[in-house]
Amino acid sequence: MADQLHVPDKTVEGMMTAQLTSHDPATGDLVWQGTAGDVDAEVARARADWPLWVALPLAKRIDSLKRFAERLKADPEPMATLIARETGKPMWEAKAEVESVCAKVDISVKAYAERTAQRRSDGTMGTRTALRHKPHGVMAVLGPYNFPAHLPNGHIIPALLAGNAVVFKPSEKTPGVGQMLVDLLHAAGVPEGVVRILHGGPDQGRALVSHADVDGVLFTGSARTGIAINRSLAARPDKIVALEMGGNNPIVVWDTRDIASAATLVVQSAFMSAGQRCSNARRLIVRDTLAPALLDDIRKITDRLIVGAPFDDPQPFMGPVIDNETADGLMESFLYFLSSGAQSIRFMTRPDESRPFLTPGIVDVTTMAERPDIELFGPLLQVVRVSDFDQAIAEANATAYGLSAALIGGSPEDYDKFWANVRAGVINWNRPTNGASSSMPFGGVGLSGNHRPSAYYAADYCAYPVASTEAEVPRATIGIGLAQD
Ligand code: NAD
Repeated sequence: MADQLHVPDKTVEGMMTAQLTSHDPATGDLVWQGTAGDVDAEVARARADWPLWVALPLAKRIDSLKRFAERLKADPEPMATLIARETGKPMWEAKAEVESVCAKVDISVKAYAERTAQRRSDGTMGTRTALRHKPHGVMAVLGPYNFPAHLPNGHIIPALLAGNAVVFKPSEKTPGVGQMLVDLLHAAGVPEGVVRILHGGPDQGRALVSHADVDGVLFTGSARTGIAINRSLAARPDKIVALEMGGNNPIVVWDTRDIASAATLVVQSAFMSAGQRCSNARRLIVRDTLAPALLDDIRKITDRLIVGAPFDDPQPFMGPVIDNETADGLMESFLYFLSSGAQSIRFMTRPDESRPFLTPGIVDVTTMAERPDIELFGPLLQVVRVSDFDQAIAEANATAYGLSAALIGGSPEDYDKFWANVRAGVINWNRPTNGASSSMPFGGVGLSGNHRPSAYYAADYCAYPVASTEAEVPRATIGIGLAQD
């Protein structure tokens, strides 16, 4: 069935005045409509107003951002409702996203002070050395659809705090939330020219990233897009580029007596947000002797998970995926596994062919000759059975990505070995692969990022360090190597 839920990219590309729409994945109702933005105009406006923002004392910038967080905290419902409508995620989860947006300001203020602290020390003869930081200028922020407020906000707030101006291009699948975020920043006192919104799809994204007047690119999205951005900027080493990309994340279940908790942690890791978190587990690696009991419990829990619309009562565990095209792709992937040597542990189903609701799919891929190392962004879990711990670690590392990984069970020695040998930016023990803390850095290695983790470390790339040696008056002598007068 043709995708009714989002406008294909081609309607956005090539037409600056193209109509953009977003639809509620759960109902198909229109949520937002507008037109694609003008890249040159938005960048020019941000460039023109940036000097006013950077000239403000830091305390004034903090005031505006705190006001934004306080107002949103006092009235979170409209944003949570819009997130739920535009992404299809359950209301409880949309509310949690808004809480993260509010919390970001205080965390970023702390991170800015800590990560980009000023330092001065006195030297000899009235000299001193000073370390200070300067903003880059105009930063492009490009966001994904799965956390349409929290993730771009995680780049926008640190960038503004450091004194940059921002041109934000939200995902073309969630423009309404992006618009609301920017409107709230303006209402809280961030000047309109200092944070701009640019609506559009990949065409606008490409033009923004490579715009000569953009000094940096803060991107969250797929590895495919991140690589395209990196390639397009190969001749611009002067632009700071932070890429937060996807993962093919492993969760390893080893020796544990608490199979019920292990199963719950696997289900949370794999199916939270309908599998639409970059940190969701995609691959369950399990000790073969534990597999029958664990998979039995996982099946029982997944059978009870409520898949439903955001405002359903009782609240669903997970909503639909973002659109019909995505649901089609995931169903095709599930069938691909079955036709390529995998066994179904739990069939992925689509109860209503006209809507993108999916029930969790689980496949055992142990005997598959070649397993694809791709991120399947939805509720689809692959299971690999192994007989020893070294094999489990090798399987965990059998990916070009490296975002998150978790070990469930095992001894402290097992965890030490897991931590030391698994390549990922987030490594957890007896906790899900997802649900990262904003007060920690968040990012991955391999295809998951370019070593510029976001969250607490976003401050690092929103300003650059300037080292100075200073004296109040010029005073100098040449001690050695000077001929007599
Ligand atoms: P996407 O890569 O399709 O799009 C992200 C943004 O890039 C959108 O605004 C899009 O319009 C823009 N874009 C697309 N092509 C472009 C191009 N060639 N040049 C410039 N911009 C372009 O990602 P998505 O499907 O919206 O989001 C899901 C992906 O995001 C998943 O892969 C997920 O793992 C990843 N993600 C990563 C993190 C993280 O922190 N590492 C967090 C959330 C999501």
